[in-house]
Amino acid sequence: MSGIVGIITKKDCKEDLFYATDYHSHLGTSYGGIAISDGAVTNKKIHSIARSQFKARFIEDFDYLHMQGNRGIGVISDRDTQPLIMRLRFGEYAMCGAGYIDNQDKLASQLIDEGVVFSEMPNGKVNQIELVAKLINKGKTLKDGIDYMYTQIDGSMSLLLLGKEGIYAVRDKYGRTPLVLAQKNGDKIVVSETCSYKNLGFETKKYLGPGEIVLLHEKEIQQIKKPGNVLQLCAFLFVYAGFPASEYEEKNVEEFRELSGRIIAQKDSVKVDLVAGIADSGTAYAHGYSHESGIPVKIPLLKYTPGWARSYVPPSQETRDLIALMKQITADVLIKGQRILITEDSIVRGTQLKNFLLVKLWNAGAKELHVRPACPALMYPCKFLYSTRELDELFARRILKQMFGKHIHEINPYLDPDSKDYNKMIQVMEKDLNVTTLRYQRLEDMLSATGLPKEHLCTYCWTGKTIY
Ligand code: SF4
Repeated sequence: MSGIVGIITKKDCKEDLFYATDYHSHLGTSYGGIAISDGAVTNKKIHSIARSQFKARFIEDFDYLHMQGNRGIGVISDRDTQPLIMRLRFGEYAMCGAGYIDNQDKLASQLIDEGVVFSEMPNGKVNQIELVAKLINKGKTLKDGIDYMYTQIDGSMSLLLLGKEGIYAVRDKYGRTPLVLAQKNGDKIVVSETCSYKNLGFETKKYLGPGEIVLLHEKEIQQIKKPGNVLQLCAFLFVYAGFPASEYEEKNVEEFRELSGRIIAQKDSVKVDLVAGIADSGTAYAHGYSHESGIPVKIPLLKYTPGWARSYVPPSQETRDLIALMKQITADVLIKGQRILITEDSIVRGTQLKNFLLVKLWNAGAKELHVRPACPALMYPCKFLYSTRELDELFARRILKQMFGKHIHEINPYLDPDSKDYNKMIQVMEKDLNVTTLRYQRLEDMLSATGLPKEHLCTYCWTGKTIY
């Protein structure tokens, strides 16, 4: 998904930039990067964070410790090396972004045919920030170029451009990823995640609207482009990807998860002895379920985190599975003979849940296991952010493939929780996962827990439908 930070301070910005960038570490596991400008020269550092965390990599970096300046941008990237320093026709900019361009190959081929050269193509893919820079460069002005870029890309992209004028903060045209402005005694920061500045003393000033562009300068914040009318914020940020202390469009993530758990309990009639959340993001749903139902919440699976990075996007499935196996340790006395309800943010691939977590609970003597994901079955790979890319990655699609011997195109009946086909699919899922019952949260219930108008949220990965 990636997370970005831009900052302008009265003195050196390095320390606040470092911590604010680090607080985006839950959004990417590929690269961490920082660019700092003293007004005349911009320097950058990028490190791989696949095996070692952002903090460790930058604290060890002697060169980084000597970078100085009062303007900076930082990024935790899930795919591309960034920030890049690009010379555009409007000036030189350090650039970073959060998003994914689904038609990147087609756009890159078109540009290459026009004579444009791409500097690096790791794994045969262009660097998306370089692609964005080359599209923006086609405009008559920077703003015009940004508008043009959005007419060309399928996907989403929020951007920061650090140049002589200051820092341009550009929220994705349909706002799939957030950008929020905050201030502290005249210092200014713009971030993907509001949790990233709370310990640094900044206070929220403004949530940028979809497509809005602002220019941060030492003296002022100037609006370059007004927000558009269509907002399609990624709902999966609330469900899983966002950090619980963050707010999107002023709505807190932890509050959403707790309320969502309450709604699951309101619609449930199963008799169990305890509720357990799969850490980390399943925990708040368990608390909500417990508060609503009066059934005690316990922690029969304990997560041993010291020394382990987050297991969503490490390098390979084998590594992810190994980490999942090693991280969770059972407290057997809480499990033996118990009917357990498990809350989980979502079932994406389902491999860790099926092969490790549920097996551990059965082996420890659980009597019944009831799984309650806090969102509907994920049916479509996301084409707006860098998360799932293939149908085969999705548990629900693999189950449908198992039922029909191939991927099917007409899946509408399997999206309707009141249909017979849907309930048949759930029965196959229960058997495949080896659980007593499985009940997904309904889409309308999940969306209502956000407190936002449903038309402001992207739900493509559940419905296959999008406004834009
Ligand atoms: S498709 Fe899903 S993960 Fe992708 S932006 Fe939309 S809600 Fe988020």
